[in-house]
Amino acid sequence: MEIALFCARINILILLLALCSPCKFIQSPMDLGPLNFRQNANTASIDFGRIHFNSPSAVLRPKSPQAISLLLSFLSGSSFSKITVAARGAAHSIYGQAQALDGIVIEMDALPSNIQVHRKGEREADGVSYADASGGALWVELLEESLKHGLAPRSWTDYLYLSIGGTLSIGGISGQTFKYGPQISNVLQLDVVTGKGEAITCSPSKSSELFYSVLGGLGQFGIITRARILLQEAPEKVKWVRAFYDDFHTFAKDQDLLISTPDLVDYVEGFIVINEQSLKSFSTAFPAHLHFTPKFQSDGRSKVYYCIEYAVHDHSSKDISTEQVVLELSRQMRHLPSQVYIVEVSYYDFLNRVRMEEMSLRSVGLWEVPHPWLNMFVPKSGINEFVGLLLENISAEEFEGPVLIYPLLRDKWDANASVVLPDAADDQVIYIVGMLRSANPASCPAACLQSLLQTNNRIAGAASAVGAKQYIPHHSSPAGWSEHFGRQWARFSARKARFDPLGILAPGQGIFSRRSISISSL
Ligand code: FAD
Repeated sequence: MEIALFCARINILILLLALCSPCKFIQSPMDLGPLNFRQNANTASIDFGRIHFNSPSAVLRPKSPQAISLLLSFLSGSSFSKITVAARGAAHSIYGQAQALDGIVIEMDALPSNIQVHRKGEREADGVSYADASGGALWVELLEESLKHGLAPRSWTDYLYLSIGGTLSIGGISGQTFKYGPQISNVLQLDVVTGKGEAITCSPSKSSELFYSVLGGLGQFGIITRARILLQEAPEKVKWVRAFYDDFHTFAKDQDLLISTPDLVDYVEGFIVINEQSLKSFSTAFPAHLHFTPKFQSDGRSKVYYCIEYAVHDHSSKDISTEQVVLELSRQMRHLPSQVYIVEVSYYDFLNRVRMEEMSLRSVGLWEVPHPWLNMFVPKSGINEFVGLLLENISAEEFEGPVLIYPLLRDKWDANASVVLPDAADDQVIYIVGMLRSANPASCPAACLQSLLQTNNRIAGAASAVGAKQYIPHHSSPAGWSEHFGRQWARFSARKARFDPLGILAPGQGIFSRRSISISSL
C-alpha cells in the first residue's frame, strides 16, 4: 500500500514537472496509475456563460475519489507548487467559476455516477428515503434512477443537466424552494475531499463544520465526491398552471397567497414578461396554446406583464383532487380575466421542462452563445424598488431571455451553510430575480456584450441599497467579495483557512489567492 502511495506521489511529481515545463499542455494522455490526465484541455476553458475562457494546464479524469485525494494531498504538501485545482461539474457556470487558469481541472463526470436508492424502512436504520450519488452525477440521472423506485428528490433547479456537486456548491433553487428549502437544505450527508486532500464523510452530526461550509461554499473548501439526497414519494402527474397579470402588486399578492398554502401547492415561480420574445422564451415547454396577446407599448412607454407559474402534484393518496385545488385557488387569485392556462403533464416532463427550451434554442444555434446572467436575492421590503430599478436599466426592445421572479422563505435556509442571503432579517420573504439574458453575437457583438455586463454591474451595485445580494455571486475585486459576505466574511475566511489553507480550490471564483507553503512548515 505504502509503495503504491509512493509511486502515485512520484507520478504527480512527474506531472508537475510537465506542467512547469515551457510547453504547458500535456501532449499525450497520461495514465499515472489512479491519475488519468487528458490531453486536450481546451474544452475545460468553456462554460455556459461563454464570457471567460481560462485554459488549464491539465485535465484530470478521476476514476475514483482517491485520485482526487491523492492529487490534493500532494499539492498541499509540496513547497514549490502554485498550481490550483477546479472541480468541473456540468460547467454551467457563467463567469468561469469552474475554470483554473494554468491549473488542473477535475472533470467530475469521470467518476462513476453509482446512484443507489434506499426506500424508507428498507433497512432498520433508514427512517427516511434517500439516494447516494456521485458529486459528478447529473440531477436528471438521479431523477431517472429514483423514479424507478417511485421516489424523487424534493427540491430542484429548473434545469436538470447540472451536476449534484455543482448545485450543492451554490444552493440550488426552483419553485419548490418555498416549500422544502434549497437543494442544500435537502442533503443528509456528503463525502468531501478537502483542499488538504483529506477524504471526510460529513453530516449535520459528524464533521458538521465541513458539511455546512461546503453547502453553498462555491467550491472553496472541498470537492464533493458523493452526496446523500433526501427523497420523497414522486407524483405521477402534475397540474401546471400559468396566469397573467398587468400589475406587479397584484401578481406579488397572488404569489404570497400560493406560498402560504404549502399543503396544497408544490411549486411557485413567476416571470416578468418584458416583450414578445420573453413571452416566447418560456412558452416552448408549456403544452398549451396561449390566447394572451398583450400590448407591450402603451402611450409610447413600455408596458410589462407578469406571469405566475404554479404546480400541484397529483398523488392518488390525497383527499382533494388537483382539479379542486386549482379551482379553489383560481377563485381567490386576481389574474387578468380568463388569462389562466392549465395543463396536466407527467412529473418527469414537468421537471425536465427547460430541456425543451434547450432543444429549441439549440435548433436555431442560440444555446451556445454568451449568457451575461445576473441573479439577485432581494428582500421583500425592497422588491418594488428593485423591479423599478431593473425596468429602468434594461431595454424592453433588446432584452433576450426570461426574467424570473419568485418568492422564497428565509426559514427554509440553514444559516450554518455558506450561502449569503440579504441581511434584512425581518423579511421572511426573499425574492429571487433572475435576468437570464442571451447575447447572440450576430446582434450583440463583443462591445455590446461588455455593455450588458456593465448594466448588470450597475443593477447589482444599485441593488445593494435595498439590501439585495447576488445569488451565484460574481465579484471582480476583494472589496466586492467582502461586501458580499458582510458579517459572514470572518466565518467564510476562517473556514477557508481550515479546509483549504493554500487556496488551491476553485480559483475561478476569484475569492482567494493561491498561496505557497513555506519550507519551514513542511
Ligand atoms: P460547474 O459550473 O461545473 O461548477 C460551479 C462551481 O462549483 C465551480 O466553482 C466548481 O469548481 C464547483 N464545483 C463543481 N462541482 C463540484 C463538486 N463536486 N464539489 C465542489 N465544488 C464543485 N441554479 C439554480 O439554483 N436554479 C436553477 O433553476 C438554475 N437553472 C439553471 C439553468 C441553466 C440553463 C443554467 C446554465 C444554470 C442554471 N442554474 C440554476 C445555475 C447552476 O445551478 C449553477 O451554475 C451550478 O453551479 C451549475 O452546476 P454545474 O454542475 O454546471 O457546476
